[in-house]
Amino acid sequence: MNKLKVAVALGATCAGCDVAILDLNEKILDVIEIVDFVFWPTAMDFKLDDLKALKDGEVDVGLYHGAIGTEEDEEIAKILRKKSKIVVAFGACANFGGIPSLTNMPYESKMFDVVYKESPSTSNPEGTLPQKETEIEGTKLTLPGIRKRADSLNSVIDVDYYVPGCPPMVPLIEQVVDVLRVFVEKGTLPPKGAVIAGQDTLCKECGRTKPETISYKEFVSPQEVKEIDPDLCLLSQGILCLGPATRSGCGALCTKMNVGCRGCLGPTDKVDDHGLKMISALTSLLEVEHEEEYTEEDFDKLLEKIPDPLGTFYRFTYGVSMISKLHPDKEE
Ligand code: SF4
Ligand code: SF4
Ligand code: SF4
Repeated sequence: MNKLKVAVALGATCAGCDVAILDLNEKILDVIEIVDFVFWPTAMDFKLDDLKALKDGEVDVGLYHGAIGTEEDEEIAKILRKKSKIVVAFGACANFGGIPSLTNMPYESKMFDVVYKESPSTSNPEGTLPQKETEIEGTKLTLPGIRKRADSLNSVIDVDYYVPGCPPMVPLIEQVVDVLRVFVEKGTLPPKGAVIAGQDTLCKECGRTKPETISYKEFVSPQEVKEIDPDLCLLSQGILCLGPATRSGCGALCTKMNVGCRGCLGPTDKVDDHGLKMISALTSLLEVEHEEEYTEEDFDKLLEKIPDPLGTFYRFTYGVSMISKLHPDKEE
């Protein structure tokens, strides 16, 4: 069997996506059986020059995880595209911009202050901020510039397949391995643009019962609920859950643990904007049976109880949201 040459490249990432691949445990042996890693700097001793040295199109499958946050991320993505027959956006950051794309909100200077000066674990008495040029032991270094936006992979290169999740869950990675196996054995692939995850919403996978009427006037944290009913929809118990707007495929990992879904698989194919879809789902759930009880003011108050609405409704998808396109790009 000819093994597939696979490259795993990364941008603005926490490397959780690398760990997720290693989390395959014994299934990793199946991966090794069909795959030769020709570039995977997090797991092995590869440098960018190793990727550059490969011939164009020599890599069968290029996985990219992390958002496009710096000029270097963008350059690596373009090199991966050139070298690979197939490119897969792997993880929420590569699919939608993910958590790094929350920095696209227009308060960059505040963000730098929080991260480099004010956070409880920071000691920075001189208030030094990252510099584009620096010198270490006499060697001058130019650091990659931070882009105006942290973006999804498909905003800078053509992407063939998508594997969402933060990080992608083992069953989804197993599906990727199965796709690769079929590719090796039969040469066939799913249609271009396919998302390797469920097609329904998480509510269909969750298994909790959604009552016809949902009536509550504030959201609570799971720890504030005395006893969470394991069979009843969390929303109906006042616990915010993005299941109605989120793609299935994770096995309802969070709701099984009595925690509301945070939306890491992103929206289904039918939804353009994840956060707007969730807000609209909440509005309709609350108003259908209780329209007379829920005034606009009540709904505003309900949303006010959510400490960080943008970060809640767009935790993983802000980079591709409509709202992120409404404000001008940040200043450099
Ligand atoms: S998708 Fe999640 S695990 Fe993967 S790089 Fe982004 S933040 Fe990390
Ligand atoms: S809203 Fe959440 S808890 Fe309720 S059914 Fe949907 S996924 Fe399950
Ligand atoms: S329940 Fe939601 S947040 Fe949790 S893993 Fe599944 S899609 Fe991600």
